[in-house]
Amino acid sequence: MKTIGLIGGMSWESSIVYYELINRKVRKLLGGHHSCDSLMYTVDFNEIVKLQHEDKWNELDGIMANAAIRLEKGGADIVVLCTNTMHLCSEAIKNSISIPFLHIAEATGLEIINRKLKKVGLLGTKFTMEKDFYKKVLTEQFGIEVIIPDENEREIIHSVIYDELIKGEIRTNSREAYKAIIANLEARGAEAVILGCTEIPLLINDSDVNIPTFDTTKIHAEKAVEWAIKD
Ligand code: GLU
Repeated sequence: MKTIGLIGGMSWESSIVYYELINRKVRKLLGGHHSCDSLMYTVDFNEIVKLQHEDKWNELDGIMANAAIRLEKGGADIVVLCTNTMHLCSEAIKNSISIPFLHIAEATGLEIINRKLKKVGLLGTKFTMEKDFYKKVLTEQFGIEVIIPDENEREIIHSVIYDELIKGEIRTNSREAYKAIIANLEARGAEAVILGCTEIPLLINDSDVNIPTFDTTKIHAEKAVEWAIKD
């Protein structure tokens, strides 16, 4: 088994889920007492949120690259960045390491085309929904049409992530708000919805909505394990 290097802490509520998922997947695939050979480098998320909202992506590039370098030096064979949003820094990460980087949108795109779906809704932080870095991977590499909620709905999605989910608060009224937003995406032709923020699966799952959901945390974590134990 190769060693998975995880950049965590964005937020640690979802890093816990990654840790559990990679170990459960290894146990399922290898049995016995196997667990996942892994390293996690966790950042202080307060600093990250501040820089994100000040639009200081160059500084964030540096912090993410530094985290990836630490993992490589620590013996990781692959880097997994445990957040969708911070994939805005994926070029800086790739350029700073000599081991592979497993992109969360590529892992998700593969799952979507395996299910033969063509048009999906995307939920995530405003950075993920509004900037190009994430949709571009799905559209250009996989030919998937991506739609996002309207401006007011994006504000709701974003503030529930930062004000509640990242603090470990799971609220019924927020779940209802998300369900209504997903129903609107469905009405606009979305065949499925990407839970494109690693905390959203703490709030929403397939049983809450009519269309399939793509849980990016689970997809990403499990793809990393498949990579680590192949051959
Ligand atoms: N974990 C979230 C994501 O997947 C948001 C937190 C962050 O800004 O990294 O996008």
